[in-house]
Formats: sequence, C-alpha cells, structure tokens
Amino acid sequence: MLRDELNNLVQKRNQKTIGEADDRELYGALLEYTKEKLKDTSPIQGDKKLYYISAEFLIGKLLSNNLINLGIYDETARLLKEYGKDLARIEEMEPEPSLGNGGLGRLAACFLDSIATLGLSGDGIGLNYHMGLFKQIFENRRQKEVPNPWIEPEGWLCDTGISFEVPFRDFTLTSALYDIDVAGYENGKNKLHLFDVKSIDEGIIRNGITFDKREVAKNLTLFLYPDDSDEAGNLLRIYQQYFMVSNGAQLILMECEEKGWDLRKLHEHVAIQINDTHPSMVIPELIRLLVKKNIDFNEAIEIVEKTCAYTNHTILAEALEKWPVHYLEQVAPQIVPIIKELDVRVKAKYNNPEVAIIDEQGRVHMANMDIHYGYSVNGVAALHTEILKNSELKAFYDIYPQKFNNKTNGITFRRWLLHCNHELTEWIGKYVDGFQKDADQLQGLLEYIDNETVLDELLAVKHKKKEELSAYLKETQGLTLDPNSIFDIQVKRLHEYKRQQMNALYAIYKYLEIKAGRKPAMPITMIFGAKAAPAYHIAKDIIHLILCIQSLVESDPEVSPYLNVVMVENYNVTMAEHLIPACDISEQISLASKEASGTGNMKFMLNGAVTLGTEDGANVEIHELVGDENIYIFGESSDQVINHYKNYDYRAADYYINDGQIRELINFIISPEMMKIGEPYHLLRIHAELIQKDWFMTLLDLKEYIGAKERAYADYEDRRSWSKKMLVNIAKAGYFSSDRTIAEYNKDIWKLK
Ligand SMILES: *Cc1c(COP(=O)(O)O)cnc(C)c1O
Repeated sequence: MLRDELNNLVQKRNQKTIGEADDRELYGALLEYTKEKLKDTSPIQGDKKLYYISAEFLIGKLLSNNLINLGIYDETARLLKEYGKDLARIEEMEPEPSLGNGGLGRLAACFLDSIATLGLSGDGIGLNYHMGLFKQIFENRRQKEVPNPWIEPEGWLCDTGISFEVPFRDFTLTSALYDIDVAGYENGKNKLHLFDVKSIDEGIIRNGITFDKREVAKNLTLFLYPDDSDEAGNLLRIYQQYFMVSNGAQLILMECEEKGWDLRKLHEHVAIQINDTHPSMVIPELIRLLVKKNIDFNEAIEIVEKTCAYTNHTILAEALEKWPVHYLEQVAPQIVPIIKELDVRVKAKYNNPEVAIIDEQGRVHMANMDIHYGYSVNGVAALHTEILKNSELKAFYDIYPQKFNNKTNGITFRRWLLHCNHELTEWIGKYVDGFQKDADQLQGLLEYIDNETVLDELLAVKHKKKEELSAYLKETQGLTLDPNSIFDIQVKRLHEYKRQQMNALYAIYKYLEIKAGRKPAMPITMIFGAKAAPAYHIAKDIIHLILCIQSLVESDPEVSPYLNVVMVENYNVTMAEHLIPACDISEQISLASKEASGTGNMKFMLNGAVTLGTEDGANVEIHELVGDENIYIFGESSDQVINHYKNYDYRAADYYINDGQIRELINFIISPEMMKIGEPYHLLRIHAELIQKDWFMTLLDLKEYIGAKERAYADYEDRRSWSKKMLVNIAKAGYFSSDRTIAEYNKDIWKLK
C-alpha cells in the first residue's frame, strides 16, 4: 500500500522512482502523503470543546511526529531504507517554524499532542508569524538576529478560506485563517488555528529583523514579539494580541452557532485556556461580542467568567503584562469601557489596590483581570503554585482560594522519546510494555536495576547518541566533540535567572584548574545553546562571554584535551532533539523560586541524563521522585532567596571582596587573554554587572555549584553506578508525560467528556 502510494506520488511529482528522487523531492512526497492521511483521520468530537489560546506554539518539525502518531513511521522508514534512503536525513529538509520563544510555547505544542492523544476535543488558537522569532547567528562571537522564514509553497498550513474583520481604532483588518492538523497518537485529530492578516507584506523588512513598526496592516504577523523597547513596539504587541483574541473569539462563537449551541450556556460547551497573559483581552472581547449578539451585559460577564481559565507561567515582575489604558485606547478603544467597568466592579467589592485591574498609574494588569474574571488560576509546578498562593498572588488567593490549582507541566513522550531517541525507545520496549500510552509503565524498568546486561545496553545507547550528536554538530556547525567525554549540557533561553553566567564561571574555574596542572580524570564537554532577546543587553554579553571562553579553551593545547566548551548556534526544537538524547548531565541551575517549572529538565531526565540543579520549579518534583542518590542538588532554597529579596541583603560585592576564589574567577573575564579574544566593552560590562548588581544572585550559589559539579563528574567515572542513576531517572520520568498533565487539566478545569 504505502510502497505503491509513495511510488505513484514521486512519479507524479518528479517523474522519478523513490530510488531516483533526492531527499528534497522525497520530503515533498512524504509531506503530501502525510497530509492526505491526516485528511482521512476523523476529527475528535464532543459536546464540549477546549480552545487553548496562546501567542506561541513552538511545534517543531512535524513530519516524523505525524508519521509516528499516524502509526506509519516504522513502515515508512523501512521502505525508504530499501531504496537506500534515510528518513532522518529527509526530515532535515523540513523548515522548523519558530513560533515560540521557549518553554511556554513548547508546552502549548506538547499539550496539543496530548489533548488529541487522549481523544479530547480541543484546538489551539494563535498567530501565523511569517518570520517566527528570529534565527540566531554568531558574528565576531556576538549574537546577530536574522529573519527565520519557514512558510513554503507546500507545507503543513491549510488555507481554510475563513476570515474575520477585526476593528481597530484607525482601521479594520481582515484575517486569513490557516489550520494545521494535530493528530493524536493512534487517535483522531484536532486543529491548530493560526490567524494571519490578508494585507501582510514581507517586503517591508529591512536589514536584520527591523521594519516600520507603524505599518500595522503590513507587519502584524511578521514576527513573534517584535522589539518592545519603545512605544511603537509595545503598541504592535497590543495589536497582535487583540488581533489574535478577536479572531479567536469570533471563531469560537461561529463554531458554537454552527453546532447549534446556546451562547447563553457557552460554559457548558466551551472552555478557554488563557496561556499566560498575552491572550487576556479575550475576556473583554468575548463580552463585547456576546453583547453584540443581544445578550445582557451582566449576563455576558457571568458567561465569560464561567468559560475562561488562566495559566500563570512566571513570577518575574517584568513578564506580568501591564498595558497603559491609553495604549489600549489607541489600539482597540471598543474594549476599554468594558475593562473599566470590570475594574469598577472589583474596586467596589475589594478595597485593596493590590487586586485592582487598573492601577493608580492607569495601567491595566492583565493577570488581575484573568483572575477576577476567570474560573481557574493555575501554576505550572508544585513549588511555583505555592509561591503564587503564599506570596506573589496571596491577595487573590485570600479572595478566591477555590480558583487556585497546580498543574505540573509535562512533555509529550511521542516527540521527546519515540521520535528523538529510537534507540532508547527500543531498549525500553525490550523490558516494559505499553509505555507509549501509559507513561507510568516506565517504572517497570526498576526491576532491572541490578541487571548488568541491561545497564550495559543503556550505556551503549547513550554512547551511540553521543556519537550521533558529534557527527551532527560536525556537519551542521563545524564543531568537534569527543563522544568519550562527559557531555554536560545547558540549553534554554538566555536569562540571568537561568544563570548561564554561573556555568560560564565554572568553565573559567576548570580552565584555570587545568592550567594549574589539576587535570580532570575524564575529558569534559560543556555545551551551551541559547537565544537572547534582541534588546536584552546583559544576556547578549553572557553569550559573548561564553563564545570567548570557547575560543580561549579551543586554542590552548594545554587545556583542550581535557575541556571543550561549545555554544551551538540557533538553539531550537530540532537542535534540542539532537542534544537531549546525548546528554549525561542536565544543567537546571536557575536561582531558586525563579523558574516556574522548566520542561527541559523533564526531557533530559526521560533521556537518561542526571540533573544537576537547584530546588526550583519541577526540579523539586524530580528530586522527590528519584531520591537524593540520583540527582545533584545545590544552592539556597526558594524561601531563603525570597527572603534575600525582601530584606535587600544580597550584595554581590561582598562575595567578590571576601572570597579570593570568586574574585579570581570574575576577574578572569577581563583578563588580558580574554580581552584579546573578545570585545572589552562587553566583557567589562558583564564583569561590572556581576559585581555591582547581579540581580539573580550568581555568586550566592557559585561555590556550592562548583562543589556539586565536581561530585557529579567524579561519580560519573563509576560507570556501573552512573548507569543505575540513568535508569532510575528514566523509570521515574512517567509523571512528566503531558498526558498526565492534560488528564489533570481536564479533570479539574475543562471537564470535557
Ligand atoms: C523544552 C524547550 C525549552 C524549555 O527549556 P527550559 O530548560 O525548560 O527553559 C526551550 N526551548 C526549546 C527549543 C525547547 O525544546
């Protein structure tokens, strides 16, 4: 069947046989083939439907995942192999849509996979950014941003022909809706709805990722979160957000009416999950649209309150959006009276400025609106939810204890195990059954904890993935890695709270140790990957610092046999899929209390890496599951850190002045050897930052971090005991399947059948 169909397709498209076609032609044929199969897959139905609205869906490449979920991956790979073709290479032809920044967008993508896999009726709603976030390139050891176009004439997007009018103050824009089919694992399908503007014009992009921010009709869906360091950038973000939610709300109401559902009973048929504050304007917009449909204003508010639920992703103040009312007036004045009325009602009830929607400076606190006018508020890991309840959102928890709940994040095992690590999947499959659909079955691996053969096989799988990663990085980035070294990996967005700078200081420590003749027993490869926000200067300085250390180590023959520091360019989902299976030590070293959950930590654990981390986010839950023996925990607790902020008693300069070792490491940043390689301006700036500000307390945990890492490296040498740690981590990873997370969302929040 598959053989004939694919042969016919390649014949029709390229007048060639499968054997004659090149990888690009085969990719095209497989794309068309898979889209046909998706068309034949039945849509998931139900009398209640979820809409997951999110400014980001970091979906990654889709070919392999769709083949896996349709149950035809193995058959396809085998067939191609007969013709001397490699499906993994063909996959590389697919462009990766960069429709997200990091964890939050990747979570939305994992959730869509699990929602469909569990057979729940639920669609995603977002925007179709033509150039995505940006593509990162390194020039003179600095990050440069260039557009990341991903839309090709043939791709996963299907033009639905559906469009809506979205009224702004000065003009009205017409949307165009593109859908991507989301197949569940051996189940039906849902959709990801991506809205675009009809009048989009890629021609206005000038050098790099700059364009005229005021030409909204032409630029609205060009980039994800364009630079918001000025007013025009902020306004554009609001245009994007309102465009997304107005289209989303119109689509939801249209679908309800098509199904004959009574809009007055919207909440019996619809749940709307608001992913972070970016889609918050869906609340006033839905009220506005319901009133236009002749529903009484008070009733419209009640309906919306029973339909919308909010997920909080961060306690970093700068990420909780507050839009000045006059910005909203400029963009979408029609929702401003509604927001003002919602605020009046809150103020009439609660005499506490902390819970107001509009503050004294006339700024709308989007999260506050979500909490008052939604029926559920959730955090994304146990610790994070506790911090929300006890400090960050305490005033709200006092009013609405019943609304608060925790939903610890998860990842889809289809992408982060079955797709990215065939060898490990096969190894697991030899010893346990049914883990593809029931992740808890992984615990069955614990029976083999003393089985030398099984453990040796696991070590062999890890080694194979390290060899594969080395070959991949050689080919794609010209980097040379030694698969016999320890692979210590930190990949995630660049942010001071994630403390890549602390890891960089460790690299300096190790460099100086080796220079002083104290060589590690086993060579070490430290791998970094991270994009920095274009206007986040300190983050870009940290990238510069890491790239300078990379050059220094590489060019020093005394050090390079023992230490290799590499930063991969343009860290994205595809890169993650290559890196994670090859990892020995997973760096999860955020300042305690700052990482809401993390999901990278879960992907690494599932692939047999051992975590080196702080008691932060979901690391806390990983620690509980694997026990002290199978994780390396260090650093001050979240309570201690929260107290430092409260008391203003952390002074980086004290550590610098009082500790000679810390001073030596910091000063090395501006040593002659570093200044010769890098740009003094940037090295001096990060040096000063670490001594004078260090808002995320790098120096607080630095010494403990060095100690913990040294312990981990030493333990790694005992391959037998290390392989047991790997096995326990894999066996306990089932809890972090997004199938578990979604089952909880459904049971507690959405209540779909
Ligand atoms: C999982 C993932 C993230 C999130 O990583 P964290 O370590 O949880 O911040 C970011 N980017 C990509 C490409 C991912 O796959």
